Amino acid sequence: MDETARTQGEYDRYIDSLFAEEDDVLRQAREETEREGLPLIHVSASEGKLLHVLALGVRARRILEIGTLGGYSAIWLARALPPDGTMVSLELQPHHARVARRNLDRAGLTDRVDVREGPAIESLALIRENGEEPFDLVFIDADKDRYVDYLEMTVPLVREGGLILADNTLNASVLDPEAQTGAKRYNAASAARADLVTVIAPVLRTDGIDGLSISVKVGGRRPAS
Ligand code: SAH
Ligand code: MG
Repeated sequence: MDETARTQGEYDRYIDSLFAEEDDVLRQAREETEREGLPLIHVSASEGKLLHVLALGVRARRILEIGTLGGYSAIWLARALPPDGTMVSLELQPHHARVARRNLDRAGLTDRVDVREGPAIESLALIRENGEEPFDLVFIDADKDRYVDYLEMTVPLVREGGLILADNTLNASVLDPEAQTGAKRYNAASAARADLVTVIAPVLRTDGIDGLSISVKVGGRRPAS
């Protein structure tokens, strides 16, 4: 078999078929997102499953998402919560938040997921001021130019051993020495932090690759490697 004849999409569908089959709730959430005219920039099913597995791995009871869109990734994440777990998801666009709340309602997750409208920077400042309980996992997936700000604001909100994830951090811009994209600046900023241990997991797309940055908060020291 000629390896090069296989596309990224084929490998992704293989992962989906074994590990990330969508149920009706997830399928409908995607379809509603499209019907309501939202951009189709949600995570793939296999990446959604990766988020779900990571949340289970750290036994997440409190999850923070930045960038809700139609709630597709929120459903994958919130399904990893125990019955008394909670998730906060931040969204700028009221229309996106409305679509997401409907999708989360259909998923039976209304009690567990709090969609907060407004610019994420402001919502994050409020979370800090109100001294909310620390989060076990943060998923950054909103405006890329603010990724470094989101990182700086969320590190103090995460418990030691918790995860900070950032979507769309691997694209051609990171290989361009001249480029100063949000993704590239985020990768440099997370690599430079002594309180984070980070790697990027490549994510398959139908037409190329992308990446999910995964950081563990280690509290000021790096374990010997
Ligand atoms: N996580 C979603 C996709 C999010 S797309 C999923 O995979 O299903 C990015 C979202 O971030 C969009 O809905 C956009 O409206 C929102 N967004 C953009 N700028 C924002 C800001 N400053 N504050 C909060 N949300 C923002
Ligand atoms: Mg994304």
